[in-house]
Amino acid sequence: MTTRVCDRCGQPIRDKQLRYIAKIQVFAAYDPLEITFEDLTRDHSREIDRILAECEGLSEAELMRDVYVEFKFDLCRACQRAYICDPIPAIDG
Ligand SMILES: [Zn+2]
Repeated sequence: MTTRVCDRCGQPIRDKQLRYIAKIQVFAAYDPLEITFEDLTRDHSREIDRILAECEGLSEAELMRDVYVEFKFDLCRACQRAYICDPIPAIDG
C-alpha cells in the first residue's frame, strides 16, 4: 500500500520503504541587542511610523513569512542521497 509520495521526484514511497523527512526552517537572524541609555530615551516615533508604513498593505501571513518559514518534505532514499549532496543549489546566472 502506498502511503506517501516523494516530494522531490513524485515516486510513491511504499510502507516498508525507507522514507526521509527534510525539515527546513528559514527565519530572520538577529544579533544580540546592545541597548544603551540613549536608545531608551530617544524618540522612536518616526522609526515606528516608518516600519508601520512598510507593513501597510501586507497581510498577516505575508508579514509572518518575512520572519519565519518552515518547509517539510518527504523524500525517497534516492532523493535523500541527492538532496544532502546539494541542499542549497547555486542560482544560475
Ligand atoms: Zn524521490
